[in-house]
This record gives sequence, C-alpha cells and structure tokens, in this order.
Amino acid sequence: MSETVKREGYTDKLMMSAERGTFPHAVIIEDTNCEKAIENILFLAKLMLCDSKTKKPCEKCGNCVKMNSGSHTDVKILKPEKAFSSIKIDEIRKIREDAHIVSLEGGQKFYIIESAEVMTAEAQNAFIKILEEPPRNVIFILICSSVSKLLPTIRSRCQIYSGKTDFDTAQGNEEINKLAGDIAKFAALGDTENIMRLVAATPNDRNYLKLLTEMILHKLIRESVGGELSQNESTEMIDGLHDLIKIFENNININLLKCRIMAALIR
Ligand SMILES: [Zn+2]
Repeated sequence: MSETVKREGYTDKLMMSAERGTFPHAVIIEDTNCEKAIENILFLAKLMLCDSKTKKPCEKCGNCVKMNSGSHTDVKILKPEKAFSSIKIDEIRKIREDAHIVSLEGGQKFYIIESAEVMTAEAQNAFIKILEEPPRNVIFILICSSVSKLLPTIRSRCQIYSGKTDFDTAQGNEEINKLAGDIAKFAALGDTENIMRLVAATPNDRNYLKLLTEMILHKLIRESVGGELSQNESTEMIDGLHDLIKIFENNININLLKCRIMAALIR
C-alpha cells in the first residue's frame, strides 16, 4: 500500500466507507486535536455497530446505547497512562491477544490508540506483528499528532488521513497573525492598493481566510493599529468583518470571499 496522506475532511471520507462497509482495517489519523479525532472516530464506530436497518446511528439500539454510555465492550481505547508516559510493549501484546477473541456481540471490534506516537519502538514493532496477521472483523485506529513519528512499516500498512492543514502549526498561526496586523494597519491608513495586494496573495483556503479575518477583526477591536480611522469608519469595518465571519460556513467561492474581505476593509 502506498503512503498517501489524505488531507482535510477525513471524517466525511471515512463516513462514506463506514456506510459502504469498506472501512479500512487499519487507519492512522494525524490530528493535533486529539479529543476531536476521538469523538469523530467514536461516532463512526457507532455508525458501524448500530443495528438499525434504516437510520444509522439510531441512538436507540443496544449498540448505540452502549456507545453513548462509553461502555461498549468491543470498542477499546488505549492511551498513555499519564501525560508524558509512553505506550509499552505489554499493552500492545494485550491488544494482540484480545483482538483474536471473537466479539460476543458478533460484530466488529475497534481498537483506538490515542497518542500513538508515544508507543515505544518495541511497542511499535509488536503492533506491526498484529498488522501483518490482522484478526478478522477488527479495526485499528491510531491517532497521532504527527505521522512521521510512527515507523514506516506501520505507516505502509495503514491508510493515513490528516486533519492538519499547512497552517495548522504555531508557526503558521504566527504568520497569519503578522499578515493580519499588516492588513489592519493598511485598512486604518486607507491604503486600498496594499490591502488588495495582500489579500489577493493569500492561499485559496477557507480555513486560512477565516482565521485571517478573525485576526484582523481582533486587531481592529483590541489593538491600536494607528492610522486615522474615525469612530464610524472603525465600527463599520468591525461590523463588516463580523458579518463576513458568519457566512464563511456557507459554500461561497473562495475568490468571492477574498473580495468580501477587501470590501469590508476599504473605506
Ligand atoms: Zn443504533
């Protein structure tokens, strides 16, 4: 299996395969928001375990009820015992034994490994053995902050999904923050040309633009950006940006969004 990382919207893609019954046996999810990733995965597990023939998850059947109370015996989450501790080989061996025991419910079993990157080298090697002879009806999901911290032999046996985008790093945020500061300054100076130049050069990424707009708004409200904005002009800009942020979820064309940002900042 080639190592291709599928970026963005991994929940939608995995949901489709869950519904079609083509969910991969081993998945790596690279996401800096581990809690959110677990929540997404538990939802998908519920979808696959639900007994309903019509609407899944039905939230009523035995499987759904157990999933909602966190007591489903076929869904196990392994995580480091405490912060900064590693996941050790014994814990992976336990999973290996357990995974070969057929589910009492007769359905699929799930093993979710949280912070998979803290598996020791021995633990990772033991995990490879499980993947080499995968038990029937078992799905392994590894959640990690960076896929590069897992052995290539694990990566090559899993489908890799990433919830990260290029700016999803502290460094990326700092860059957006600086850009937002520059744009806010030009807005205060009424420098139309520079506003248009900077906004036009931003990446065609909805999340990026939303974050940028929020940061510009923050600058205009909280920081003194200089220039000579009158109270009215400043209120108008702030209101315009507020309105803009609300429509980001709508499926508006990216170029149109950029034009709206420019329009909100030009007096
Ligand atoms: Zn159900």
